[in-house]
Amino acid sequence: MSRLELIDENIRNIPEYVPGKSIEETAKKYGLDPASIIKLGSNENPLGPSPKAVQAILEYASKVHLYPSADAGELVDALSIYLNIPTSSICAAGPGMDGLLDNLMRLLIKEGDEVIIPIPTFSYYEIAARANGASVVYVERKGDFTVDIGAIQKAVSSRTKVVFLCSPNNPSGDVVPESDVRILLESFRGLVFVDEAYVEFADHSITDLVMEYDNLVVGRTFSKIFGLAGLRLGYGIMPYWLKKEYMKIATPFNVSLPAVKAGVAAISDKLHIEKSIAMVKEGRKYLQEQIPFKVYDSMANFVLVDVSPLNASEVCEKLLEKGIIVRDCRSFKGAGPSLIRVTVGTKEQNMRVVNAFRSV
Ligand SMILES: *Cc1c(COP(=O)(O)O)cnc(C)c1O
Repeated sequence: MSRLELIDENIRNIPEYVPGKSIEETAKKYGLDPASIIKLGSNENPLGPSPKAVQAILEYASKVHLYPSADAGELVDALSIYLNIPTSSICAAGPGMDGLLDNLMRLLIKEGDEVIIPIPTFSYYEIAARANGASVVYVERKGDFTVDIGAIQKAVSSRTKVVFLCSPNNPSGDVVPESDVRILLESFRGLVFVDEAYVEFADHSITDLVMEYDNLVVGRTFSKIFGLAGLRLGYGIMPYWLKKEYMKIATPFNVSLPAVKAGVAAISDKLHIEKSIAMVKEGRKYLQEQIPFKVYDSMANFVLVDVSPLNASEVCEKLLEKGIIVRDCRSFKGAGPSLIRVTVGTKEQNMRVVNAFRSV
């Protein structure tokens, strides 16, 4: 008997999460100086974290022998003001929004439950749901990658527990219209999870609907606009009945003390937030106009490029040779072979990307 049989077959069949490439592995593989490589494959903030967040981490480094508060209350208070949502509807979450997703699936999913995922989209929904015993029903997005709300409604069954929507969607950058979210919230008994990881770049949020509906959960993160991906901090906005149950099963102390302090500091740094948003809005317009392939409209800090008739892997390879890391989207279910996701960088980085695309 192989010990592998100790693991349930459903788990063994889950595809591995494919992360964006790192600077270290790219430098090694292509014989490049790490300092010359630009990393535009993981939608991080090229301006880095807020200096205030860095200061907070340094300041609390000497306090990490103490457990943090169990509910990250200080951060929840700051988020409540930032969002204008009562603290009774906010949960801080580590590690990252991924931790929130995992806790929610553990809370909600029973063997035999179904979840609906419109593809292509962020792949961790599938992993978190299947790891907890759910069957996934995939629904194709339309040709322009917007959500097909009619197709989702048709896919709903008596076993549907959760529908995942990502707005702006990773990797296509489009937002889900509020009217579509309302239609779904009103049309079935389960929960709608709306992932707003990129919402600050979009001028369009449905978070306020949590105050109106008792079956909506919004996921957010400090990894993107706030430049704290390495700290692993996220949060959820959900109705109080759900927060109460969620807090029972969330791993205790899942937000570290430096993460609580850095999160509070990052929210307070309005200048860094505004600078990050302005850079992204200018940069994505430039990339869309200058990259000599089809580029989809994006409301996020990345653009999706269709390089057909070339394929994504050969183009990514050419960019990697020049020290530019972008995201080959072939690992996204339903994305096809010709899509590349490019994070909006600084002006200089964007110019390098455009030149590299021009030369392929
Ligand atoms: C990056 C990302 C997340 C993950 O956020 P973490 O807080 O770093 O776990 C969630 N959803 C989408 C769509 C993302 O792109």
